[in-house]
Amino acid sequence: MNPNTLENYWMPFTANRDFKADPRMVVSAEGMYYTSEDGRQIMDGAAGLWCANAGHSHPLIVEAIATTAKTLDFAPMFNFGHPEPFRLAGQLAALFPDPLNRIFFANSGSEAVDTALKIALAYHKARGKAGKNRFIGRERGYHGVGFGGISVGGIVANRKQFATHLPGVDHMRHTHDPARNSFTRGAVPHGAELADDLERLVTLHGAETIAAVIVEPVAGSTGVLPPPEGYLQRLREIATRHDILLIFDEVITGFGRLGRATASEYFGVTPDLITFAKGVTNGTVPMGGVAAAQFIYDTVVENSETPIELFHGYTYSAHPVATAAALAALRAYSEEGMFENAARLEQAWGDAFHGLKDAAHVADIRTIGLIAGVELASRDGAAGARAVEVMKRAWAKGLMIRVTGDIIALSPPLVLSESDIGFMADTLREVLAETA
Ligand code: PLP
Repeated sequence: MNPNTLENYWMPFTANRDFKADPRMVVSAEGMYYTSEDGRQIMDGAAGLWCANAGHSHPLIVEAIATTAKTLDFAPMFNFGHPEPFRLAGQLAALFPDPLNRIFFANSGSEAVDTALKIALAYHKARGKAGKNRFIGRERGYHGVGFGGISVGGIVANRKQFATHLPGVDHMRHTHDPARNSFTRGAVPHGAELADDLERLVTLHGAETIAAVIVEPVAGSTGVLPPPEGYLQRLREIATRHDILLIFDEVITGFGRLGRATASEYFGVTPDLITFAKGVTNGTVPMGGVAAAQFIYDTVVENSETPIELFHGYTYSAHPVATAAALAALRAYSEEGMFENAARLEQAWGDAFHGLKDAAHVADIRTIGLIAGVELASRDGAAGARAVEVMKRAWAKGLMIRVTGDIIALSPPLVLSESDIGFMADTLREVLAETA
């Protein structure tokens, strides 16, 4: 067997045959840039995968990882502990809105989502309401790839290849309404009434059967869908009225993406559970988790009939190296004012990308915080093909972007400058002009 072949690695969410025929490889990263295998500087327009919010190879984080790998390479978290996750949980509790101050650690966004769903079930069971075991998600939602996540998720391709889902899940309609909400900044003006889908599903199934509703405050992986103004508030109100837990999946919106610690803070709506991952360690070492309202923790813990209150956890929950990376990332975000930088640049970011309104193929543009979604008109009979070509051409010109269907998503490190924004928008305009 040829050890240099690309064939053995089965790549995730990738057109394997296409990639292996013409690979795009990076070999190092620093600040806003990757270095490609052929030695070019590639500006990171996607913060890796929405995770390197502090930029790459941040010295504080690199140092923390190296030191911890030398001093405490692993620590078991079942019945033992080490001090740092307790410290990290305290810092995260301070960052998340009150009363979300109980932190459970996992290793990815997918695990965070499955954990949040389980916590919701455990909470209702602890109150003698085990019948509340149905989940409500939303069309076009992305909640990772666990069976819980794909069940509540609403991205069709991620579901239909796999027959087995959680039973009893239902979905609200998505909020994408280009006829009423095109070329928007921030929350979109129309569609708050779509939150009433939750009320309809309560009428259909009965509140006594519903444990929780889960949404991304800004849907990312489906192609950047900011919520309608007032939508999240309405969901909150309906969920509270029917004793349904509200879960915000903040895996991409957490840690400064919207210029605030969380989207909950940005929109002024407090859920009962928040899932997080990615930016918590700046993407350096896998970590995810759930911030739960204190009343959820208290209910589960105080009503437990067994010494262990929650039969759930991962070998790598609060891994020492991930924990150290997270503590360093939080320090970097705070000491260097990165969330504030993101907030300061939101206007310039929006101006630059909305300036592409007249660029070739552009059908819609949506910006919020440091996120931009540039939706292209699809080629006849080849949905997604144009955006893939744009992604490849941008790579050749030194810009990494992400595409979903025919939507280009940009979500750079929060440490970018106005001239970086200019480079991204200019490169995209050129590439669009060159693409058929
Ligand atoms: N939830 C949301 C909102 C996400 O955007 C993602 C990943 O992009 C996930 C969950 C899954 O995270 P992971 O890939 O770390 O499992």
